[in-house]
Amino acid sequence: MSTDELFLGSDAGDAAYREAMARATDAVLAFADAETPYSGRSPEALDAVLDAPVLPDTGVGLPAALDEVATTVLPHSVGTSNPRCAAHLQCPPMVPGLAAEAMLTAANQSLDSFDQAPAATVLEQQVVEALRELFGLPASADGVFTSGGTQSNFQALLLARDRHCHRAFDRDVQTAGLPPAASSLRILCSEAAHFTGKQAAHHLGLGEDAVVSVPTDGDHRLSLDALDETLASLDAAGAVPFALVGTAGTTDFGSIDPLAALADRADEHDLWFHVDAAYGGALALTDDARLDGIERADSLAVDFHKLFYQPISCGALLVRDGDEFRWMARNAAYLNPASDDASGVPNLVAKSVQTTRRFDALKPYVAFRALGRDRLGALVSATLDLATAAADLLDAADDFELVHEPTLNAVVFRYRPRLVDDHAVSRLNAAIRRRLLDDGRAIVARTEVDGVTSLKFTLLNPRTTLDDVAAMLDVVRECGETALAQEVVA
Ligand SMILES: *Cc1c(COP(=O)(O)O)cnc(C)c1O
Repeated sequence: MSTDELFLGSDAGDAAYREAMARATDAVLAFADAETPYSGRSPEALDAVLDAPVLPDTGVGLPAALDEVATTVLPHSVGTSNPRCAAHLQCPPMVPGLAAEAMLTAANQSLDSFDQAPAATVLEQQVVEALRELFGLPASADGVFTSGGTQSNFQALLLARDRHCHRAFDRDVQTAGLPPAASSLRILCSEAAHFTGKQAAHHLGLGEDAVVSVPTDGDHRLSLDALDETLASLDAAGAVPFALVGTAGTTDFGSIDPLAALADRADEHDLWFHVDAAYGGALALTDDARLDGIERADSLAVDFHKLFYQPISCGALLVRDGDEFRWMARNAAYLNPASDDASGVPNLVAKSVQTTRRFDALKPYVAFRALGRDRLGALVSATLDLATAAADLLDAADDFELVHEPTLNAVVFRYRPRLVDDHAVSRLNAAIRRRLLDDGRAIVARTEVDGVTSLKFTLLNPRTTLDDVAAMLDVVRECGETALAQEVVA
């Protein structure tokens, strides 16, 4: 390819882009239309399929390189748009988001300074403002787009830690590091909270042991009685909690902690109240009362690459008082000199843990504009209804066990053909999951509940029907019968 053909901005480059995108689009559509969600290839088999030298001395040309992807990579990729791909919080990306992704990638704006992303900088702030309203946060709130819940949770706890160290020890952690008393600091969350809370504690120099897991109630929600006991015992032991994390949508059961009551506890004990709504935040589109209290959060993590159906990666962190971003603010002469702040130039890099940063806000923006809140909310509601119907189906089947009624659209179950003990059920369901991966007709997750291996559908796809669920259960049953016949389970 000539140099002109390699870049946009000339007739030759524009034509090359059109042709490459047409080729890529055809490949994507063939992938999306595949009958089964996975080819069933093992890691070893894939290594053999993907045998082209990655960096040859002389390239094969773009059409050939794209065709190789179409014939060797995409056919062995998991079919995220397939209705029977139902394992994880990995959504089918919606067309508005895919179109936005193509545009933001080609425009290649970088949100770390206004001069690298003028309209994008302003638009991201407008999207943040719309999210502020969606979640009912006050006018003082601000936010920033992130790579997802991991980064949002980390950043929220960083702000919480640094505010606390400033208040309690008059310590500026940004310059002076952690105070000697840091070993007494604690973060509270439920035992069902996402592991990224512990990961953040590690990255923040507090260590995973700083995270105190509070037991859950019968519905896998943080137990308020247990929280009160935990707060009392921490106090007695001289430990100092500074943050309380509520989860709106736990990974296994989609359970939503009692947010308003947690906000009360946070007020009483002067804790930073963070809500991890990476999964369940989309419920705000439907006015679901279960999110009541989220508007009292000091910070809130929401992912668009889950129940908002946007391509990976796309998340946001909202902070109740935008001034709290000061704990991580910094100025760099080449990006955002302090003099620019004074003259009102937007300065998003100071609110982010990233420097170069994608214009991911364009994806929810296009989806919001194109569909509006009602249509987006209807998509989410449909998947919740499907999960309820799937749970009924499991309940009615003799050989399946529904582990718990779903809260959002995750449904945890076990194949339990006869009264076998839990140990045998664990082995059987683990064997089923291995077989499912080799089979490829249904993508189902595994998890563990009370020590017993279980299977899980995360029914994110609004195109998945109850017939799809029944068909996936048939595949599970088939794999289970084979495992039993081969006496995998003694
Ligand atoms: C997905 C998820 C995370 C992690 O977010 P990423 O987007 O994968 O970084 C954290 N918490 C919850 C509740 C999640 O569902």
